[in-house]
Amino acid sequence: MNKFLKESQEMMDELVANRRHFHRYPEITNVLPKTVAYIKEKLVEMGYEPQDCGTNGIVALAGGKKPGKCILIRADMDALPMPEETGLPFSSEHPGMMHACGHDFHMSMMLGACKLLKAHEDEIEGTVKICFQPNEETFGGAKDMIEHGVLENPKVDAALGIHVGPFGEPGALTFGKGPNMGSADGFDITVRGKGCHGAAPHSGISPINIGVHIYLALQELLAREINAAEQCTLTVGTMTFGDGATNVIPEEGHLRGTMRGFNKELTKFMVRRVEEIVEGTAKVFGGEASVEWLFSAPPMDSDPEFTDDVVRYAADVVGEEKLHPKKQRSTGSEDFSYFGDAVPAQIFWLGAQVDDPAMRISNHNPKVLYNEAALPYGPAVYVHCALEWLKEHK
Ligand SMILES: [Zn+2]
Ligand SMILES: [Zn+2]
Repeated sequence: MNKFLKESQEMMDELVANRRHFHRYPEITNVLPKTVAYIKEKLVEMGYEPQDCGTNGIVALAGGKKPGKCILIRADMDALPMPEETGLPFSSEHPGMMHACGHDFHMSMMLGACKLLKAHEDEIEGTVKICFQPNEETFGGAKDMIEHGVLENPKVDAALGIHVGPFGEPGALTFGKGPNMGSADGFDITVRGKGCHGAAPHSGISPINIGVHIYLALQELLAREINAAEQCTLTVGTMTFGDGATNVIPEEGHLRGTMRGFNKELTKFMVRRVEEIVEGTAKVFGGEASVEWLFSAPPMDSDPEFTDDVVRYAADVVGEEKLHPKKQRSTGSEDFSYFGDAVPAQIFWLGAQVDDPAMRISNHNPKVLYNEAALPYGPAVYVHCALEWLKEHK
């Protein structure tokens, strides 16, 4: 058995305790006071000197005694703004917040990796940069940390992430190569008309009418202007107009939604066309409309050579039979893609399904369950892959 997996299994109690602590006290976006304090305290206990990076990002360094390259390993820390319905004894004690995406696992596994790295610091041929990232769910955290220099001093040469999934047997690792997770661009369209009495629509300009035409025209952008060989999607998730009255034409309203794709040039085209369609359609009906882009994350593009390397190393930990190439690209997004945009990177999907198939349910669901048997694989994969990659790329 791989030595890091063995040592990781020996700290199972601690991995479980940390995971349950994070699960019990979820925090969202980049407002993570308890989470950050807990992690920093643990890092200091282990002998690290954690540094702040951006808003509530944490960075720590391991190794650096021997010359070599620098590899970054990343865990995200934020939960989701939703109530928990799992019934677990360590359920969320923060109303309206839940670790429903497994980031509680990520933090626990990264703390486990930190412990292994300290115990094996003399073996590190270069530097491992440990990164705890806020605000993944709204795609702001990775960008913020990069803007605040997480990839510099020392300069990062490659990056590895792990995300747990509620499907896949514990310890199984799925990986993509090339562009394999969608970009994400969020928009808020403001439509302005002229409010009036519902009995006299001719005296106003209905933003609802404009909004409905914009909605339809956006669907036609996908159907008529995008090459059918491309994979991309555009979803309007929210339309809000009026305040419940039957006899009022409101002054303005909003359409909010998201676009996903795998091709940065195509995204640029869609951004331009969405703006043209929105502004043009409003003008046709005598109103006005504008688009605010709320967030933007590039597609996750996993460097093929780095992927081959880390897949080979990870096989030492979990066994070759537990490594699976993705069967298809996913339109789901991860802001780890910002790291992949800057340096060779891979994010493994670590299986953490529960034993009873009837209880398996997707992430971002208030009832989602994860299997803690997956926990020890995380630290071992992080540390073994990082150390082997540094050794082979001196
Ligand atoms: Zn998520
Ligand atoms: Zn996530």
